[in-house]
Amino acid sequence: MVEINTEGKVREGSIYGQITSLGHEQLVFCYDEPTGLKAIIGIHNTVLGPAVGGTRMWNYASEAEAITDVLRLSRGMTFKAAISGLNIGGGKAVIIGEPKLKNEAFLRRFGRFIDSLGGRYITAEDVNMKTSDMEYIAMESKYVTGLPEIRGGGGDPSPVTAYGTYLGMKSAAKKAFGSDSLTDKKIAVQGIGQVGKYLVELLVKERAEVFITDIFEDKLKQVAKETGATVVDPNVIYDIDMDIYAPCALGATINDKTIDRLKCQVIAGAANNQLEDEEKHGKILLKKGITYAPDFLINAGGLINVYAEFIGGYNREQTYKHADRIYDICTAILNKSENENIPAQQAAIEMAWNRIQSMGKVKLPY
Ligand code: NAD
Repeated sequence: MVEINTEGKVREGSIYGQITSLGHEQLVFCYDEPTGLKAIIGIHNTVLGPAVGGTRMWNYASEAEAITDVLRLSRGMTFKAAISGLNIGGGKAVIIGEPKLKNEAFLRRFGRFIDSLGGRYITAEDVNMKTSDMEYIAMESKYVTGLPEIRGGGGDPSPVTAYGTYLGMKSAAKKAFGSDSLTDKKIAVQGIGQVGKYLVELLVKERAEVFITDIFEDKLKQVAKETGATVVDPNVIYDIDMDIYAPCALGATINDKTIDRLKCQVIAGAANNQLEDEEKHGKILLKKGITYAPDFLINAGGLINVYAEFIGGYNREQTYKHADRIYDICTAILNKSENENIPAQQAAIEMAWNRIQSMGKVKLPY
């Protein structure tokens, strides 16, 4: 419901209140009775190009929670694309419901909704969505990426994400330690899932001293056996003696409870939204002299992979070359942060916005 107060202003907390405060262009509510599909597509900003971002399926506790999620995530995609130099905007979709309930008809109906936007939104995989789900969507719409390599797609984006994270970590190490070598650095990787396990491989190859943690013991034993990394309990990861903390599991792990426990000099990981409160915790890290490699830049390898698929003629080698730029972009952000004495996350957001605004002006003559 749109709630407008007596002064004609949108009430804070209403849907339009949220859309206007975060700067979205469009929010699309989709419903299909026969399949039970309930989805929301958030298009944040299309100045640089069509809005690209994955679809997440989640059993949200409320509609408000789903709306907040799609708005927050689609905005994050705008910054990620802009800072990485990609010519795409930010979008995201959420499907409300139990992931086990999705089937061919459900996903193809969702594909039709995506198609009806005529290319303003292009989807990909996200939480609880697989490459095979993208194949069903692709039966109804060409506005989909994340297809298997065998179908001309980019396949699993995680190795590229891990590679970008590794480069961002090296750039941050150069700023903090004066050298980007990770040899003998004590690095704690929290979460050895799809991205974490590839990151550990890269770190071990560079002869870093790697500590790993996860909530799945079997996974930990396996990765420790394969790489020689040291296993740490999930509850003590914040307290160990380390040079670099690499959050690769959940978001918001840098919060009021953990921030004083971290004795590292660098934070560089793949997880999205690592700072629970972007402004507050960003400032604390700056004050403590901890070099923070902005999450939405250094985990952009996955989006770079999707972008390569979107522009056509997917080529793995070129995709890695594109991801190489993460190192220099991270260095530029950290320099801006240092010169202006502002948190690195803020510096990254400002750089992303500057690009959108200046490109918006370039596009005007069309
Ligand atoms: P994943 O689900 O494969 O791996 C996450 C791992 O974290 C799992 O092994 C899980 O058991 C572990 N974990 C969960 N809670 C934990 C806890 N409290 N302590 C320790 N470990 C815990 O996910 P992924 O694809 O590897 O992604 C990791 C992070 O990177 C996520 O935040 C994701 O949003 C982000 N990310 C991933 C990609 C990508 O290409 N996969 C791209 C950009 C960002």
